Amino acid sequence: MKSIYLDNAASAPILEEVVDVIAESLRSLNGNPSSTHKYGRTARAAIEQSRKSIAQHLNASIGEIFFTSCGTEANNTVLNCAVDQLDVERIIISSIEHPSVRNTASFIAKHRDVEVVELRVNQSGRVDLDILEDLLRTPEKKTLISIMHANNEIGTIQPIETIGELCKEHQALFHTDAVQTVGHLPCDVSTTNISFLSASGHKFHGPKGIGFLYVNSDNIIEPYIRGGSQERNVRAGTENVAGIVGMAHALQYCYDHMNEKSAYVRDLRSYLIEQVSEQLPQIQLVSYSSTEDCLYTITNFYVPPSDKSDLLLMNLDIAGISASGGSACSSGAEKPSHVIEAIGRDSDDGKCVRFSMSFMNTKEEIDQLVKALKKFK
Ligand code: PLP
Repeated sequence: MKSIYLDNAASAPILEEVVDVIAESLRSLNGNPSSTHKYGRTARAAIEQSRKSIAQHLNASIGEIFFTSCGTEANNTVLNCAVDQLDVERIIISSIEHPSVRNTASFIAKHRDVEVVELRVNQSGRVDLDILEDLLRTPEKKTLISIMHANNEIGTIQPIETIGELCKEHQALFHTDAVQTVGHLPCDVSTTNISFLSASGHKFHGPKGIGFLYVNSDNIIEPYIRGGSQERNVRAGTENVAGIVGMAHALQYCYDHMNEKSAYVRDLRSYLIEQVSEQLPQIQLVSYSSTEDCLYTITNFYVPPSDKSDLLLMNLDIAGISASGGSACSSGAEKPSHVIEAIGRDSDDGKCVRFSMSFMNTKEEIDQLVKALKKFK
C-alpha cells in the first residue's frame, strides 16, 4: 500500500537537498558562532549568509530578521515583548488564531493589565474590517493587532495589506503570523505595513525546530529569552546553525520554484474540489474555493454525520492516507477546534477534515483519496 501524505500544513516533508545541506553543516560548522576564532567565525558567517538570504526574500533589512526555535516562540516573543516593552495595553486577535497566539494572549489578559479583544470572523473565516476599524477608532490604549496571514485549518487568507494600512492610520502595531504562507506566497514587508511577522522552517520543507521573526526596525525589542547576547541581544542561546542554514536553503528553493510549484498545487487543489463535488456531493467544501481567498495548500471539507464519519481520519490512516481534523493539535480530539466553532461548523456530529498538499502530491493520490472517501462515507 502506497502512503499518501496530505498533512503538509502540519509539517511539509523536508527536501532531500535540505537534508544534505544540514548534514554538511553539522559536519563542518562545528564552532560556536559566538567564538571569535576561525571555527566560530565560519559558523557565524553561515548564519549571517542565511539571514541575508531570508531578508532578501521578504524585502527586509538584514538587521530585522531574528532566528527563533519555531513559529510558536516567534509568536510568544511578539505578544509578550509588545506588552512588556512597547507599552501595549490592548491586543486584538481574530477568533481563529493559532493557539500560540490565542493562548499567549489569554495568559497575558489573565496576568497583566491588558485587554484582549477577539474579532469575530465570517463563516469562511474572514475578519470583519469594519469592526476592526471601529475598534481602532478608540485610540486611548496602545494596541497590537495580531492577525494571521492564512489560517492553518481552513486556509482563509486575511487582507493583511488593508489591515496594515488601518494599523498605520490608527498608530497600532501589526503582527502577522505568516507561518502557513512564508515560502508559499510572496511577502514584501517593505510595501506592507507590518511591525512583526512570524515564520517556521518546517512549513516550507525545511527542518523542524527553527523559525524566524521579522521585527520592523521601528520597533526594536529587548530579549524575550535572556542570556547571552546572541541575535543582537534579542534572542539569547547558542544558535541552531544547521537548522538556520537548512531553513534558509529551503526558503531559497521555495522562492526559486514558487511560480511553477504553486501553479501545480493550485491545479491539484481544483482537481480535488472538483472530484469531491462530483463523486461525493454530500461532502461540503468549508474553505473558500478560490485561491485568491484561500491558501492553495489547504482544503477543508465538512463530512456530514454518518456511522462512518466518526472514524473517518482513523480509517483514512489505515488506508495509508494521512490527513488531519483541522490542525495537528486538534487531530484525534473529540471536540471541534476553536476555528471550526468560530465559523459555525460545530453544530452537529459531522466532521471537518483538512487535506493539505504540496508539490510532492499527485493527481493519482487525489484519485486514491476520493476512492477511499467513497468507501468511508
Ligand atoms: N502558527 C500557525 C498558523 C501554525 O500553523 C503553526 C503550526 O502549526 C504555528 C504557528 C506554530 O509553529 P511551530 O510548529 O513552528 O511552533
